[in-house]
Amino acid sequence: MAATILDGRELGRTIEKDLMSRIDNLKGRGLHPHLAVVIVGDDPASHVYVRNKEMACERCGIKSTRIDLDSSVTEIEILKVVEMLNLDDSVNGILVQSPLPKGIDESLIIDAINPQKDVDGFHNVNLGKLVQGNTSGLLPCTPAGIMKILEFSDFETSGKNALVIGRSRIVGMPLSILLAQRGIDATVTIAHSRTKNLAEICRQADLVVAAIGRAEFVKPEWIKPGAMVIDVGINRIPDSTRKSGSRLTGDVDPDVMDIAGWMTPVPGGVGPMTIAMLMSNTVMGTELFSNI
Ligand code: NAD
Repeated sequence: MAATILDGRELGRTIEKDLMSRIDNLKGRGLHPHLAVVIVGDDPASHVYVRNKEMACERCGIKSTRIDLDSSVTEIEILKVVEMLNLDDSVNGILVQSPLPKGIDESLIIDAINPQKDVDGFHNVNLGKLVQGNTSGLLPCTPAGIMKILEFSDFETSGKNALVIGRSRIVGMPLSILLAQRGIDATVTIAHSRTKNLAEICRQADLVVAAIGRAEFVKPEWIKPGAMVIDVGINRIPDSTRKSGSRLTGDVDPDVMDIAGWMTPVPGGVGPMTIAMLMSNTVMGTELFSNI
């Protein structure tokens, strides 16, 4: 039987609609949620991501400001921009689009952001709260979006074996902590590039999250029948049948659809949920921390 497809686009739009009344409320109090996005250089994928974030702001009624910096910019110059945004009381959320050019210390830049404006949820303070079991603050958007997908599905996480493939700071590691937290109660395994017998470990999992960055890496024969499969990957691969000559695909082989119980599509799964959670963090940051 084919898996139930978990439509992140539809759920993301529902979350954005729910935010609108909170945004109206804030506007009634003279507070207009405002997201500032800093983008460095001309990486085409980053420009698409930033444009998608701007469009989500337009849909929700969040003000957005985009600051374009040349790829030759220095670390100090980026830090100055971050400091200016920290001091600007009209700005509620600051996001510095990754990746930054070689030679720029990304964690230094992220940790310069006021944690109350860190809508990406990557600041040491916000990640530290997460590790301490406090999930009420600004959570990293992709892991938070995946938790929403699980919440809105009929999959029960408690006592289940969850396998997170990938241990990145922005996806795999924070997601593993969220899945293990009290109330979610999954038994979590984290796999990475040095993991041995990945296929075997995967076959034990009731929930598989693939955040690797390798096209169609997770194979159907690795999947326990009926498992929940969340595909985080966004990979562009050649496709001569397309006008553009390429197409997007995830980290999971599409044939997994025939084995899994639930699966997120790529595109249209985790991606739109990440953006919806960014909008949610911007609104939450305005509600909790606005100085105006
Ligand atoms: P990353 O490159 O920081 O981390 C990749 C992880 O995969 C590493 O921890 C590495 O150990 C692991 N890995 C690599 N090869 C492996 C192997 N052979 N076996 C097991 N593990 C292996 O990547 P990231 O930033 O976490 O992103 C992962 C993917 O998710 C990318 O395709 C990225 O584009 C995508 N992504 C999507 C969203 C979204 O909103 N949909 C958000 C963030 C990232």
